[in-house]
Amino acid sequence: MAIDIHQFPCLSDNYGFLAHDRDTGAVASIDTPDPDAINAALSEKGWTLSHILNTHWHPDHAGGNAALKEKWSCEIIGPRGEASKIPGLDRAVGEGDLVMLGKSRAIVHDTPGHTAGHIIYHFEDDGSAFVGDTIFAMGCGRLFEGTPEQMWGSLQKIIAMPPETKLYCAHEYTKANAAFALTVDPQNQDLRARAAEVERLRAKGVPTVPTSVGAEQATNPFLRAENEQLKAAIGMTGANAVETFAETRRRKDSF
Ligand code: ZN
Ligand code: FE
Repeated sequence: MAIDIHQFPCLSDNYGFLAHDRDTGAVASIDTPDPDAINAALSEKGWTLSHILNTHWHPDHAGGNAALKEKWSCEIIGPRGEASKIPGLDRAVGEGDLVMLGKSRAIVHDTPGHTAGHIIYHFEDDGSAFVGDTIFAMGCGRLFEGTPEQMWGSLQKIIAMPPETKLYCAHEYTKANAAFALTVDPQNQDLRARAAEVERLRAKGVPTVPTSVGAEQATNPFLRAENEQLKAAIGMTGANAVETFAETRRRKDSF
């Protein structure tokens, strides 16, 4: 394990993440939801910002780029597919590209769906992935710029990672996601147990991020589009995975 990850709340329900490469002291902010909160976190840790790794262009992810670059002269890396919308971008990356944070290496995956050019950063050797607004605990990003088929493909890249992989999602949406998940997958015992646990944690203000690939495979209704019980529960018996995913997403949009 070569990186330390510092997580802190930003804005109303975002998380900020700083990744610190122990060997070299390089530090990346994953997205830039709130530059003041990120600067406070940096000074608390005594870290110097060297990189920004953006997942997508939305203002709660790239809105702090300019202020942080001005202060730290850091290198900004972000999605090639939406390069013109990322303030201060220095290097555009996409599927299969490698990003070095000091001696730590992340592989980039394109995960279109929430936005057209959304990317995620997988630090394979550390078993950690920064997934932006692609997947959430028991949820997934809204399809603002992509199709259900694209998002289903993007989610497959995440569940192809080892089950213990930690997923650092950008929002604390878990409690609302669990409430929705129970409406489409009510017979799932793992989901019921997790929903109860989340209720307890959130009552105490404990973060439910990061989640893990294994936990999502068992409980995330957007990954269970091949499950017959879930299909039956939403009237999609006989439908394929993409159709079932699309119906689940449609229901969540109006939940
Ligand atoms: Zn977003
Ligand atoms: Fe967001």
